[in-house]
Amino acid sequence: MKRAVYAGSFDPLTLGHLDILRRGAGLFDELVVAIGHNVRKQRFLSLEVRTEVLRASVSMIPNTRVDTFEGLLVDYCRRIDATVILRGLRGSADLELELPTGLANREMAPGIETLFLLAEPRLAFVSSSLMKEIAVSGGDASAWLPPAAWAAVQERVKAG
Ligand code: ADP
Repeated sequence: MKRAVYAGSFDPLTLGHLDILRRGAGLFDELVVAIGHNVRKQRFLSLEVRTEVLRASVSMIPNTRVDTFEGLLVDYCRRIDATVILRGLRGSADLELELPTGLANREMAPGIETLFLLAEPRLAFVSSSLMKEIAVSGGDASAWLPPAAWAAVQERVKAG
């Protein structure tokens, strides 16, 4: 059983994330989508809402499941017996951020490989932070978010 983990904060989940996890799911027996949870970090959407949005959005991909974790990603991977960390690469800015983390993870856990999938070109500009900025400024980000994520973002914006 080859198990991979696609981790992130998914605050909110975007079509860019969904594209990576769909394509990643096709490469492994199981893809665990893991929401990183840090009690000290203030998030736009609550962990509960992000979990619900992910569950609703990946329900049609049979070999995926949604989970949450705290602490080091490599420790989480060991706990659930995953040997691959899946990441998406939009451009050089992602690579600059990913490289030190990926190299540190490799030192800490040599048996776990980090695998990068190139972003779908038409979604390469899509980031959770840009989507939040558009929504908070009164714009429409529904073209780049799964329906459940857009609904959650709108609700959060309304709540202020
Ligand atoms: P983090 O909180 O670790 O920054 P994110 O939720 O923003 O996590 O992203 C998780 C992963 O998804 C990262 O590998 C990131 O590069 C990738 N990703 C984010 N947006 C896109 C996109 N539009 N296309 C492809 N990959 C993406």
